[in-house]
Amino acid sequence: MTEKTPATRPLETADWTPAPCDLCGGQVTIRLGERAYTVRGRTRDFEMNFEDAACAACGFVFAARRPDSGFLMAYYRDAHIGHRGGELHFDGEKRLAAVAERTPKGGRVIEIGANDGAFCAKLTEMGFDAFGLDPVEADEAESVGKGFIGEGRSGIAEPRSADTVVAYYVLEHVIDANAWLAELIDLLKDGGTLILEVPNYETHPGDSLNPEHLLHFTPRSLRELLVRHGLEPEDGLEATVRYGQAIAAKLVDRAKAARPAEPSDVYFDDAAAALERAQAAYKVAKAERTRRTLVAHAAAELAAEADPSGKASVFAWGANEYAERVAPLLTERFETVRVIDRSASKIGTPFPGLDTSIAGTDVIAEADRRIFLLCSPNWNRQIADEIAASGWEALAVIDAVTGEILSAQ
Ligand SMILES: [Zn+2]
Repeated sequence: MTEKTPATRPLETADWTPAPCDLCGGQVTIRLGERAYTVRGRTRDFEMNFEDAACAACGFVFAARRPDSGFLMAYYRDAHIGHRGGELHFDGEKRLAAVAERTPKGGRVIEIGANDGAFCAKLTEMGFDAFGLDPVEADEAESVGKGFIGEGRSGIAEPRSADTVVAYYVLEHVIDANAWLAELIDLLKDGGTLILEVPNYETHPGDSLNPEHLLHFTPRSLRELLVRHGLEPEDGLEATVRYGQAIAAKLVDRAKAARPAEPSDVYFDDAAAALERAQAAYKVAKAERTRRTLVAHAAAELAAEADPSGKASVFAWGANEYAERVAPLLTERFETVRVIDRSASKIGTPFPGLDTSIAGTDVIAEADRRIFLLCSPNWNRQIADEIAASGWEALAVIDAVTGEILSAQ
C-alpha cells in the first residue's frame, strides 16, 4: 500500500520560550549551538528551533528555549516514530529483572511513557499489578486494552498507590523536569522505588543531542535532581541500552518532593569542571553527528555497488534515526525501499522521507533480490545472525551504523 504525500503540507510552529536551568534554577546560560530544522510528520511538518545551552552556574545542558506542550503533543502524535519500548524484544529482560528485584510480590507498577503497553503486559504476566500511562498513545484502543489509563489519571493511578514507578527514555523529552518528577513521585508510596533511564550526555553526547531531546543528563545531574526531590539513589543499576544511564531511587522524604531542596554544595563545587566537560562533550557530539551522516552516505554507496541496476528491494532494518539518514539516500537509487521494524507500535506508521509505512519482517520474503541495511547500533550483530539463519538470500548485508559490509554475495 502506498500513501502519496499531498502537494502542500501544513507547517506547525511553536512559541519557543526561554527556560531556566532545571537543576539549579539558573537563568544565565552559555550558548553551545543551535539546531533549527523541519521534521516531516505523517500529516504535517513541524518547525524545530532548539538552542542548546549550558547553565553558567552548574553546567547542566538543556534546551534554553522550550516549545509549548500543545505543540509537543501534536508533534509526538504526528511525527514521533518512537524509540521508547521499541526494542523490548531485546532489552526487556534486564528491565523486568530490575523491577522484580525492587517490587514486592504482586505490587503495583506504573510505567510512564508506556508506548504500546508491551512492557506492562509482561509485568502483568509476572504477577504484578502493572499499568501504563502515555499521553501520546492514550487514545489508542489497543493500548487501553493493555492497561492504559490515559493522561488524566483514573482511580487506578491514585496518588501514593505505586510500589514502583518506571520511565524509560522519557525525562529527556519533557518541558519541565521538576514538575514531571513531582507528578511521578505523587504516584509512589512512601519508600517506593523510582526507576529511570535517560541518555548519558557524558559518555554519549551525540545520542543525547538527538532531535527531540530537551534535557541532557550526566550521572551527576540525574542523581542531583532525584536527591533534591527527596529520593535516595542506589548505586550501580546498569542501563539497558548502549548510550543510556539507569538509576533506581527510593522515596525517603515526601516533603522534599513537594518543595525540592536547593542543589547541594557538592554539586556546585564541581560546577566549573562540569561546565568545561559539557562544552567539550558538545563538540564531540557535533563531530559524531557529522560522522554518522558520512557513514550513511557510505552505506548507501555500498548498496548501490551491490546492485547498480537499482532493481533489488532494499530493507533498512530498525525504524530509527539511522534509517532516517540512510533511507532518503536509498530512494534515490532503488525503486523499492522499505523500513523494517519488529515493534508493533511502529509497524504501519509512516516513515519520514518514504512514501510507504514501516513494515514488519513479513514483507522480506516477498522480494526476490534483497539488500539489507542494518540500522540498530545495539543489535546489528543479532539481526545479521537472524538474516543468515532465515534463508533470505541477500546481495549484501550492510551495517548502516558503521558503514561496513557484513556479508555479500
Ligand atoms: Zn544550573
